[in-house]
This record gives sequence, structure tokens and C-alpha cells, in this order.
Amino acid sequence: MSSLDALRSSLGDLVAIDSTSSRSNAVIIEYLESRLTTMGFECGRIPYLDESGVEKVNLVGVIGGGAWSRPQLALVAHTDCVPFDPDWKEALTLVERDGRFYGRGACDTKAFISAALVAASSTLTSKLASPLMLVFTADEELGCVGAKQLVEKKVPGADFAIVGEPTSLIPIRGNKGYCLAEVEILGKEGHSAYPDTGRSAIFGAARFVTALEQIGLRELRQELDPGFQPPFTTLNVGVISGGKAKNIIPGSCRFAVEWRPIPGQNPNRGLQLLEKLKREFEREAPGFEVQIRALRSDAGTQVPADSEVVRFIAEHTANAPGTVAFGTEARQLSQMGAQAVVFGPGDIRHAHQTGEFVPIDELLRCEEILRKAIAWFCQRGATTSG
Ligand SMILES: [Zn+2]
Repeated sequence: MSSLDALRSSLGDLVAIDSTSSRSNAVIIEYLESRLTTMGFECGRIPYLDESGVEKVNLVGVIGGGAWSRPQLALVAHTDCVPFDPDWKEALTLVERDGRFYGRGACDTKAFISAALVAASSTLTSKLASPLMLVFTADEELGCVGAKQLVEKKVPGADFAIVGEPTSLIPIRGNKGYCLAEVEILGKEGHSAYPDTGRSAIFGAARFVTALEQIGLRELRQELDPGFQPPFTTLNVGVISGGKAKNIIPGSCRFAVEWRPIPGQNPNRGLQLLEKLKREFEREAPGFEVQIRALRSDAGTQVPADSEVVRFIAEHTANAPGTVAFGTEARQLSQMGAQAVVFGPGDIRHAHQTGEFVPIDELLRCEEILRKAIAWFCQRGATTSG
């Protein structure tokens, strides 16, 4: 079978399995485990229950190089997809048209999974000097929840990792973190005709949010990382709600505060600034109460541009390394001890939408590069640095 036939067949199988994040990913894990087992991988499942009590499974497969040696290379990809529009009738059918493969997950990130499977199956695994690891995770789209389970359960990692995401074959050596908090301003309800009877939580929130914007511009832009665009931690208030009726002084107003910290900055920096603002606000506006609920705190991550795995991908694609402003599983892989690069076929701007696709030539090149990476890191062995 040619590489293209093998990729088409694997990607067709994967797209046909509905692995929307809200569902259990057990079916797609079953498929991947049977593929890996056939190739001779030793597989381990790391299951957990998600917030809704649905069973989710991470799968780790290892092959070659002596049972006790640490894997040199891990190929990592998430199995879950974002939901698809019911009007997209071919979402679960791989469609080939104009040099592209279409289907939900075709780009994000089942193309990379099929490339990893085909690359591993065409490698003479008997000749591996050090083990190759394949990692398939759950719930990446919900905040790298599956990968965090691997860290929490201290699953051993590899020295180097290639984390599959649609990067248009550009090696991504770092990403900003992602943090989220909900803030609630509590005032006092009253009749709007008699302002003295209450304290408007919405007027209070307006002052708080304005002060927060100033902090974002002043404090968070002091620390810079020129490797990122924009080079500072960004801040956003994306949702706000409050009040019950037009003639009631609102007693409560809540809003979501998101910040994306540059790597190297404490991800709790945003939270510390919120706490400081809360103290100032409550001192200056007696009778108001500010409640802050921290919801997420993921630090950014990066490896140097001269890391061996970054250089390898850069040389083989002729693409200069870049960084992105959104979170990836590279963070968790690095917590597991790997120098991680994010890489894969397809464009992130074509993911998460009806008509998602991967260009077939990029998929073919990705498979070829993964095959060479396995040969370089696992067959010839590599010197680990840092
Ligand atoms: Zn993805």
C-alpha cells in the first residue's frame, strides 16, 4: 500500500468515529489500541471520569529499544474534536476533493494521528535503539484535561515530543498559557427611583473593569518576551452579566477575566493583580463586596529554538520555528520531562469550522517527516541536552 493509500484509509477510519469531546472517546481509543497492538506496541490505558461522569481514556503505547530504557521520542495527539453542525452531513465521512481531505477532525487533529500511525507502521521497529512512544489523549479541546491526567498520574514521558496540531508544518516551540477567573461584584438591590436605597453592582463593575483595563495596559506589559506576538501577557473581559430589570438597582454583576501569560511569568500574576484591585476597590467603595473565583491557571511553555527536536523539524520543513498565543499539550509533555515541539499538517484557521480540511500534500510531508524523526531519534539515538 502506498503512503497515500495508508493515510487515506487511516484518516477515513478516524473521521468515521464521532469523538466529540462531550462523548466518551473509548471507541476511538479501542481502534487506536488495536492498531498499536498489531504493530507490536505495549499499550497502557489511563482512564478517568470527566466532569459529567463520562469515561475518558488516554492511551500510551511503547515499542522497541529495551523495556526499561526511557523513550527518546513521543508522538502525541488528542483524540477529541469540537462539535459539528448537524447540517454538515458529511462531517463523519472522509471526502477527497481538490487535493484536500474534508471531515470533522480531518485537520484537528486526526490528520496527525494517521500520519503517526503510518509512520510507525512503516518503521522497522525491531531496529529501534531506544523506545518510541505514541500518546493519544482525551479532552484537549476542553483545556488539555486528558494530558493533565498524565501529569497528575506521573506517567513517564520521553526525552523529546512532537505534539500534533495543525501548524501548517511550522515547528511551534512555545505557547502562551491560559488563565481564567470569574469576578462577581456584590452591591445592594433597591428601587431605581431611590438610588440611596441600594448600591449598583453594575456601576461598581464598570469602575472595576475600567481599573482592570488600566492594570492590563500598565502592569502586564512590563514583562516582555520578544519571541511572542504580542510580546506581553494579554488580558480580556469576554463575558459580563448582571441585573434583573431596568427599574431595579442591580445587586450583582459578574464577568469572566481571561489572561494569557507569556512563558516564564507566574500564571497567577493576573490573579494577584485581581486580588490587589479587590482590596483597593472594597476600601474605596464601602458596602461593595468583590468575590474572585479562580477557574484555570495554565502556565505558558517554550523550548529554545536550538532544541534538537525543533531544529530537526525546522531543517526538514525549511520552516523557521514560531510560537502561538493559545495553549497546547506541549506544556504537559514538558512537565513529563520532554522538550516538546508542536507540529502538524493543516491550518488552525481551518479547524473548528464546518468544512474543516487538511491539504493532502501537507499530510504526506508530515508522515515522511515523522518517519525520519523516528529514524533519527530512535534508531540512531540522539544526545539529550538540557
Ligand atoms: Zn487540536
